[in-house]
Amino acid sequence: MSKSAANTQDISCDFDPGSISADEALRRILADITPIHQTESISLRTALGRVTAIDVKSRVNVPNHTNSAMDGYALKGDALPSEDTATFKVAGISFAGKPFRGGVRSGECIRIMTGAVMPEGCDTVVTQERVSREGDSVTISEGESAGANVRQAGEDLAPGDVAIAAGTRIGPAHLGLAASLGFSELPVLRRPRVAFFSTGDELRSVGEVLETGDLYDSNRYTLFGMLSEDNVELVDLGIVRDDPNAIRQGFEDAADCADVVITSAGASVGDADYVKQTLDAIGAVNFWKVAIKPGRPLSFGNVKGSLFFGLPGNPVSVMVTYQIFVREAIRRLSGERDAPVLKLQVPLASNLRKRPGRVEYQRGVLSKDDAGNTVVSSTGEQGSGILHSMSVANCFIILPAESDGAQPGELVQVQPFSQFT
Ligand code: AMP
Ligand code: MG
Repeated sequence: MSKSAANTQDISCDFDPGSISADEALRRILADITPIHQTESISLRTALGRVTAIDVKSRVNVPNHTNSAMDGYALKGDALPSEDTATFKVAGISFAGKPFRGGVRSGECIRIMTGAVMPEGCDTVVTQERVSREGDSVTISEGESAGANVRQAGEDLAPGDVAIAAGTRIGPAHLGLAASLGFSELPVLRRPRVAFFSTGDELRSVGEVLETGDLYDSNRYTLFGMLSEDNVELVDLGIVRDDPNAIRQGFEDAADCADVVITSAGASVGDADYVKQTLDAIGAVNFWKVAIKPGRPLSFGNVKGSLFFGLPGNPVSVMVTYQIFVREAIRRLSGERDAPVLKLQVPLASNLRKRPGRVEYQRGVLSKDDAGNTVVSSTGEQGSGILHSMSVANCFIILPAESDGAQPGELVQVQPFSQFT
């Protein structure tokens, strides 16, 4: 490379040779995690959001009995007319929950409702819209199919079939499915315990008075909110001063009670930044700089058997690094099966500025344009202290390390905040 080319790169590039890429950081984090294996059986409703410890297998047929899929008339399929019409006497009625118990003779049919058990000897339902009824008899025309409109016992699940696979995070559909199988409890994995604290002499808790240079600790609130969306037990350890002994004590208290320790701020190498040096002293540093923006000073390692994340101090950086790295780590630790993070290619509706060197997670708003197409636009000013940009965003716009910005109309990668779970 010529000298002038090297100079040009120095000015325009934002790359720090001491940092690792975001992909490499995530790979190292996930490689360092052994999923939790302790199991407990808990009542159905409390299992919402938890992860199944084993395959949950059906003990019954679903549906339980062969039943009607429609409102209509049940009869033997071989009695259907192959030409013209045939008339049947309505000999009884079968409701959902109140089956018809008698026999059905030749020339008879049974009025039947959706979900009602099929009467003995009947294998076909003709829907009510396709018959003409007069008094006690119905007339059916040719063209009906034998076996139609019937749900067979065990058609959805037979005994022994896996209903919910091990490693599934239980959502509303799983709760309903488990209930439909008669389970009042589910076997789930223990939740990870996560302890977190903020560091910084300038931080005050809400309710306290601010002196010059003080600010309210918001990171413990965003962390509380994000962790609450995940499958964890929370331990909030408050604010710790920028003092090496206090930070060390904080690390030890957190590691004693939790599987994961999260701190915010003090993560760089300024004069009041003690997080990395403490991790070095009483734990192990895996990495401490990642080529992302915001969020470059991100430490990851271990302390006394717990996973450790030293997040940056800036409020937006905390949210970005949590969502990109910590959330994935918690999923892996929880025993959840790997699920791809939803990323979409969406046309851009605004101008994005960026310097090459780091992957950028800009805050975006997905919306519809006048033609009804989904587009994404910037929330505006992208400073890492501007928490407002997160509060109005509904997605990250991910710009690759080599990108030098993007223009309206270009396709950009978008990661929506709410995930399919
Ligand atoms: P630091 O990494 O300690 O230099 O912090 C970077 C920036 O984030 C500083 O402007 C801090 O005041 C700010 N900051 C650190 N912790 C918090 C917090 N808990 N809540 C809000 N802002 C914070
Ligand atoms: Mg600080």
